[in-house]
Parts: sequence; structure tokens; C-alpha cells
Amino acid sequence: MTTLTDRGTKKDTAQAWYNGLHNSLTSPEQMRLHEYQSKEIFTDYHIPIPQGRLAATPEEAKLIAEELHGAVVLKAQVLVGGRGKAGGIRLVRSPDEAEEEASKILGQRIKGLPVRRLLVEEAINIQQEIYLGMTVDRQRAETLVIASAEGGVNIEQVAQVSPEKIARVGVDPLLGLRDFQARNLAAEIEIPRALWRAFGMIALNLYQAHQDLDASLAEINPLVITSGGRLVALDGKVLVDDNALFRHPALFDKRDISAEPTEETEARKFGLAYIKMEGDIGCMVNGAGLAMATMDIIQHKGGRPANFLDIGGGASADRVTAAMRILLADPQVQVVLINIFGGITRCDEVAQGIKAALEEVETAVPFVIRLAGTNEAEGRRILADANLATAYTLSEAAEMAIARVGTVTA
Ligand code: GDP
Ligand code: MN
Repeated sequence: MTTLTDRGTKKDTAQAWYNGLHNSLTSPEQMRLHEYQSKEIFTDYHIPIPQGRLAATPEEAKLIAEELHGAVVLKAQVLVGGRGKAGGIRLVRSPDEAEEEASKILGQRIKGLPVRRLLVEEAINIQQEIYLGMTVDRQRAETLVIASAEGGVNIEQVAQVSPEKIARVGVDPLLGLRDFQARNLAAEIEIPRALWRAFGMIALNLYQAHQDLDASLAEINPLVITSGGRLVALDGKVLVDDNALFRHPALFDKRDISAEPTEETEARKFGLAYIKMEGDIGCMVNGAGLAMATMDIIQHKGGRPANFLDIGGGASADRVTAAMRILLADPQVQVVLINIFGGITRCDEVAQGIKAALEEVETAVPFVIRLAGTNEAEGRRILADANLATAYTLSEAAEMAIARVGTVTA
């Protein structure tokens, strides 16, 4: 969704990288791996991680803590960022304390997602937290490797406030990440020279994993320098492009749908591309480009879109109903704007779909509908007969939707 348009200044690119990363974390078109799954991959690629295992019960957590001797960290396995700040990471001193804390976190919700499993790991003494990540720069059609000496939970802030602290290098896909590039990164973020070699190995191995898995993101944050002077991947995040999943059947089986936001799972089932956002105007559009344009116009007219939703071609009643359910399940949605361009999809067919869907999904939320293209007059007649508000142009539709925000309270 985000393109790296202006690569003129360091600030622009850091900002674009941050936005791209943020989008990739919320896009449904990625399979997100749990931390423990990412770490299994790290181990396959010889990237050092702390010792530890998964626990599903407090008793298991205690047992693992006993095996590990000493302080351990309990880490909630939920597919959201910022678990630390949300209380999903706990440092405990003894097996008994591990059991007690585990019983508190298991079953709790972190950012709305239930915690079913904990990763119980040896606690690491941290000297420095580094960021190391790889993402795809679509504009340049190459992998972008990013590193920062100031990794950890505030990396997004670092990217925004002090972009000069983020080092980056693009990788020629035919050459792969080169030793010297990794070394340059190590030098640029000023880690001790004694660790350059180890850092280089980790970067090259992570790059290989990123390529092999068709990952859109492979990230170690933090990659820590321990008080003993070793490099260890303390946290991992891997996102795999949905479109490449067929090449990785083993990964596909690992997909943890139960831990993904339910609307997105639901959307995927019906072949809809859905991304939730912050606003109050629900959008249902056919075609990704038109969906973006619709969101832009809403924003331009002073409104706030609640989501991106592309219902794709052939907007059948089934799909329209599914899309409507998803939109209306969001309590923030106060009005729904439907914008359909009829090409092969006929407007009258879509209008029938909308009518049928509204009969099934009862709601007080007002709808504004703009149909254009094949059989548009017929479509509009069907909607008017059903007492639905129709618009001729997109800007008119946006204005009508904005005017209806706040007219119905749940
Ligand atoms: P996130 O909040 O979901 O990104 O979870 P992380 O696994 O990155 O942990 C967040 C923060 O908790 C890290 O940046 C560390 O500061 C801290 N942390 C995690 N594991 C350990 C550990 O073993 N020892 C210490 N001292 N701190 C840890
Ligand atoms: Mn982290």
C-alpha cells in the first residue's frame, strides 16, 4: 500500500519505512508468525536465541523455569506488537513466581487477543538493544536491510524522531546481502568491532531466511548485546506474503487463525481484502485503487474512513452480505459508504445484493451508495425503491456520508 516515493532525504525514507512497516503489520495479506515460530526459523538459520520452551499452563511454566535454573521471562504469544508495554512480558525470579505470574497472564487479553501460550525463556542480561530488520522496498524492487543501535520497544519513535539513527542498505537480488554491506551497517550503528563478525553472520542468515520464506518482513527487535558480550535474538517477527504461502505448505499449516483479528479472518474467507482503520465511515468498494481513491476523498472532505475494504469483482449478494457484516460489526462505524464501479459487475446486480444483504443484516446505520457504470440507472432505481440514499458522484457520496456521521447512536 505504501510506496517509497521520495527517497531524497534520510528522514523521508525512514518515515516511509516506518509507514510501510506499520501497514505490513496491519494488512491481512500477510501471514504473521508467532514469536516462538519466528525463533524456530532463527534456529534453523543459526541465529542465536535464548533457551526456552512454550507453556500452555502455569504448571508447565513452572516446570520449564525449573529446567532453566534461575530467572526467566514469560512472554505472551499473541500476534500484536508492543506486548512489553501492554503487560505481556514478565521477568520472574523463581519457578514458583513463574507459575504464579503465568496463571495471571494466561487467559488474559493483550490488546484484545487471548493469551493461550507463553514462551518461557532464560532471562538475559542486556547491555544494549539493537534493531535488525529486512523488508521489501517495492519501489526499488529489492530487499531493504535496516539496523539501529537504538532498538527495543521504542524503535518506531526512533524512526520518526531521529531517523539519522536508522542505518539502511538495499540488496541487489542477484547478489544477495554482501559481507561488506553487513559490516558497513555494523560500523554505522557503532557496535563494538569485536561483534561485527557475529552481527554479519546474523544479518546474512536473516537475509537468507527472508528470501527463502518469501517474507515481507523478518525482524529481530531487540537483537541484544548481552552483558557477556554475545549477540542474541530476544524477539522475532516474521511476516510471510500470503501470495507465496502455497510455496510453503509447512508454514501454512502453522497459521494461527485463532490468534488473528476475527474480522480479518472472516474477510479472508470470503475473498475480501479488509484492513481496519481508526475512523467512523465504513467503506465498501470494488477494486483496490477505487477503494484508495474513496478513502482519499473522504479524508479530503474532512471525514475519516473506518477501513479499507475491497470486495473485488463480481459483487454477489453473498460477498456484499459478508462485507456488510464485517463493517457493521465494528462499533466505530456510524455510516457506510458503498462505492461500486460497474464494469463486468453490473450495477443492478450489486443493487440487488445490497438490498438482499440489508434485509438479512438489520441495522440502523445509514447507508450512502454510489453506483456508476454498467446498468447504473437500473441499479439506482432498485436502491431508491428500497429507500436507500444514492449519490451520482464520489465527492457527493463522500459529503453525504460525512453529513450522516453521528446521526444514529447505537
Ligand atoms: P515486544 O514488546 O512485543 O516487542 O516484546 P520483546 O520481546 O521485544 O520484549 C520487550 C522488551 O522487554 C525488550 O525490549 C527488553 O527490554 C525486555 N526484555 C525481554 N526479554 C528480556 C530478558 O530476557 N531480559 C531483560 N532484562 N529484558 C527483557
Ligand atoms: Mn520486540
